[in-house]
Amino acid sequence: MKQQMLDRFGRIHTNLRISVTDVCNFRCIYCMPEDMTFMPDAALMTFDEILHLARIFVALGANKVRITGGEPLVRPGVPALIRQLTQLEGLKDISLTTNGIGLIKQAQALYDAGLRRINVSLDTLNEEKFEQMTRRKVLSRVLEGLKAAHKCGFNPIKINAVAMRGFTDDEIVDLATFARQNDYQLRFIEFMPLDADDVWGRNMYIPGKEIIGKINAVYPLTPVTQNGEAKSDTAQRYRFSDSENEVGVISSVSEPFCENCNRVRLTADGKLRTCLFSLTETDLLTPLREGVADDGIAELILNAVEQKEAGHKINAADFIKPERNMSRIGG
Ligand code: SAM
Ligand code: SF4
Repeated sequence: MKQQMLDRFGRIHTNLRISVTDVCNFRCIYCMPEDMTFMPDAALMTFDEILHLARIFVALGANKVRITGGEPLVRPGVPALIRQLTQLEGLKDISLTTNGIGLIKQAQALYDAGLRRINVSLDTLNEEKFEQMTRRKVLSRVLEGLKAAHKCGFNPIKINAVAMRGFTDDEIVDLATFARQNDYQLRFIEFMPLDADDVWGRNMYIPGKEIIGKINAVYPLTPVTQNGEAKSDTAQRYRFSDSENEVGVISSVSEPFCENCNRVRLTADGKLRTCLFSLTETDLLTPLREGVADDGIAELILNAVEQKEAGHKINAADFIKPERNMSRIGG
C-alpha cells in the first residue's frame, strides 16, 4: 500500500483529524444546540477500529493526527488510545483539541501517554460571556485545566478562540495579554457556518485581519513566513516583536486557504469527510466491520480523496450548509 492521498487538484493529504465522540459537556452556541441527540454507542468506532483505520491512513501517508470530538475527554480511555497511536510508525505528530475541563483530571495521564501538543478552546475570560457562549458556568475550571496542562509540560499549549461579532470584539487584546502572560499560543478562529441553531450570519464573524490589526496596535507583530509544510497551516501566524510567542488567525471565511488544504476527517461513526463543508461522506466503518481487507478500505479512502471538493463555498451564492454541525463532524 504505497499510494498517497492525492486529489484532482494536486493536493497531498497528510493530516487526519479523528473524532472519538460527538458527545460534549458544553453547548457552545456556535457549535451545538442545547438539546442534542447523540449517536448510539454501537455506532461509534471502538478504539481498536480507530487504530485499525489510523494505521491504514498512515500507510497512505498521513503523518499527523489530531484527536477531537465532540469533547474527546468525555470518552473514557483516551490516554490509552493516544499511547497506542504514538506507536504507529510513520506518525510524526499527535495532538488533541479539548474544551479544557477534562484536563484537571486527565492532563498528566495524557502527557504520560506521550501527548505533547494540546489545543484548548477558550473564547472569553469573562464569566458571564463564557456562560452565554458555552451555556455552562465553568470558566474557572477551564482555567484550572489549562494550568494543569502547563504544569505537566505540554508545549505548545494553543488556545482556540472563536471570534464572534458582538462577543469577542472587546476582548481580543485581553485574550492576547492572557496568552502572552501564560506562554500560550493564541489562535482566533473566524466563526464558520457550522452551528446547529442557524446563529451564523455574514455579520457574525470577525475577519482575521481586523483581529491582527487590534493586537498589533498594542503589541507590535511580525508575520511568520510559512514555507514547506507550514504552508498548509490553517493559521496565519504572527510573532510578538518582544518575545518568541505567537498569535494566529484562522481566516476560513474571509481568506479561505483551501488550495493548500492537506486535511481529511474521520467522524466518530467512521465516516470519511474530505472537507468540513462536505455534503457527502464515505462510510469506512461499515466495510471495516464487514471484513473488507485493508487494501479495499484504502481504495475507498483514495477514491474519496481524489474527488475532494476544490474548496468550501461559504462565500458562494450556491453555498449549502452541511447537515452535520461542528460537534458531529469533529473540528
Ligand atoms: N470540544 C472540543 C473543543 O471545543 O475544543 C473539540 C471539538 S470542537 C468542535 C473543535 C474546535 O472547533 C473548537 O476550537 C471550537 O471552538 C471550534 N468550533 C466549533 N464550532 C465552530 C464554528 N461554528 N466556527 C468556528 N470554529 C468552531
Ligand atoms: Fe463542545 Fe467543543 Fe462544540 Fe463547544 S465547540 S459544544 S466544547 S464540541
